[in-house]
Amino acid sequence: MTILSADNLTKSFGATVALHGASMSLEPGEILAVMGPSGSGKSTLLHCLAGIFAPDSGTVTFDARRLDTMSDRERTRLRRTDFGFVFQFGELVPELTAVDNVALPLLLAGMRRGTAYARARSWFPRLELAGLEDRRTGELSGGQAQRVAVGRALVTGPKVLFADEPTGALDSLTGEKVMDLMVDTVRAEGTAVILVTHDARVASHADRQITVRDGQVIASGVQV
Ligand code: ADP
Ligand code: ADP
Repeated sequence: MTILSADNLTKSFGATVALHGASMSLEPGEILAVMGPSGSGKSTLLHCLAGIFAPDSGTVTFDARRLDTMSDRERTRLRRTDFGFVFQFGELVPELTAVDNVALPLLLAGMRRGTAYARARSWFPRLELAGLEDRRTGELSGGQAQRVAVGRALVTGPKVLFADEPTGALDSLTGEKVMDLMVDTVRAEGTAVILVTHDARVASHADRQITVRDGQVIASGVQV
């Protein structure tokens, strides 16, 4: 069974060929690490899979629906309801509190304020952030802030989490803690993950790894 797949994607930026016939697939609930050297096309692949960039050719299919031919409006709605995102720098709003940041995607989805905040607060114990709900995120440590970002990405119950170097800005011990928590949480929720990383230790949390080189997926293996 496949929830998200890319078939024969190409994407160029001017004269730079970023993707050159890239194909991959993701199963529901699977954690897939996407590895490869800098500049190999990992981020571009992730952006195409997430419907942020349109590929020049090839197809992206999510839950039996073609993402590459969908209208912008439909794709934006799908991104809000079915996809979650965590990046290297959490991109939290630093002036807002931790709970404001987690509630934000629920408010954007049209949930009533009281319900959204109750749901957002209910996530704090499992993020190991109990007591920090009303702290401004600019005042949190890097690891705490990244756990807020994980909560914000998962609070809407997405089917796929896109994580691009989610621990890239953290020291390795803090990064491992964030990864452990992220993995426990997605396992409990049944969320599939596309985990882009160049760090083998981060990738070791995945069920399976693929390697991107020169814009193609060149290797695929089950995690040992
Ligand atoms: P990775 O994530 O593996 O480092 P990227 O997908 O970011 O690789 O980049 C693949 C290639 O495409 C690189 O040569 C990069 O410089 C180029 N590239 C990516 N995005 C853009 C862009 N928006 N404009 C121009 N070139 C880009
Ligand atoms: P990563 O560190 O995740 O591999 P990069 O540093 O390659 O990411 O790229 C980060 C973002 O910047 C990418 O999403 C890509 O679209 C954009 N980018 C990468 N290379 C270029 C470039 N040469 N010109 C413009 N934008 C780029």
